[in-house]
Amino acid sequence: KANRRFNPLDLVVDVGGHKIGGGYFSVIAGPCSVESKEQVLEIATKIKASNAGLLRGGAFKPRTSPYSFQGMGKDGLDILIEAKKETGLPIVTEIMSIKQLEKYHEIIDVVQIGARNMQNFDLLKEAGKINKPVLIKRGMSATIQELLMSAEYVLAGGNNNVILCERGIRSFQKEVRNVLDLSAVPILKAKTHLPVIVDPSHATGSWQLVEPMAKAAVAAGADGLMIEVHNDPDNALCDGAQSVKPEKFDSIMKKIAAYIELE
Ligand code: PEP
Ligand code: MN
Repeated sequence: KANRRFNPLDLVVDVGGHKIGGGYFSVIAGPCSVESKEQVLEIATKIKASNAGLLRGGAFKPRTSPYSFQGMGKDGLDILIEAKKETGLPIVTEIMSIKQLEKYHEIIDVVQIGARNMQNFDLLKEAGKINKPVLIKRGMSATIQELLMSAEYVLAGGNNNVILCERGIRSFQKEVRNVLDLSAVPILKAKTHLPVIVDPSHATGSWQLVEPMAKAAVAAGADGLMIEVHNDPDNALCDGAQSVKPEKFDSIMKKIAAYIELE
């Protein structure tokens, strides 16, 4: 079902009227984690002014250490929903378990399945049964074929709206958090009709590299970007080093808009 051969036309995913794929370029922006109402509202208002299409923010965080900030949970979702009411931006947020999916899928706009859960097949099967778009991030050690098979799980369940996200893969290179596999973009675009977006924040781990890699993703033919934006990166509870400030995000958006039309 993910195969381009049987789906010659690009899929356009419609998120409450906002489109991704098939020539519609969309930028998802926001903090790594929801930290407070003030934080999310400030960031949401600013990214909206910079023409972002969707708001991201993690309420359930898949942290390496159990002692790191685990996210605000349901309170975080409520804050995202409030920000959506204020700005009109649809919300994208990570869901880590079947239980969370069942409980919350109706109140969020795009269900994100993170790199660490890309091969959580039970979760993918359940995501196939909901009627919300699912954004699947490539596992840090997953092949392109494995990413496509994960999408296949969701599609096989009857959910046709899947977005793929390249977010960097593991390597020996220490200068970056991950290595952005940009060739995955044209390869995926040839193999599937699903929209392919790029996350230059998790791919690089440093805010200075977000702009060049965002531009490179546009040049490689991506259908969109996911960028972490924080109003106070130095004090962020998660991923501050890779988060751009709203002003920097605005300038990245202006540069990107010189190449493509933003949805
Ligand atoms: C995220 O988007 O905040 C995240 C945890 O991403 P990934 O699953 O790609 O690491
Ligand atoms: Mn993050």
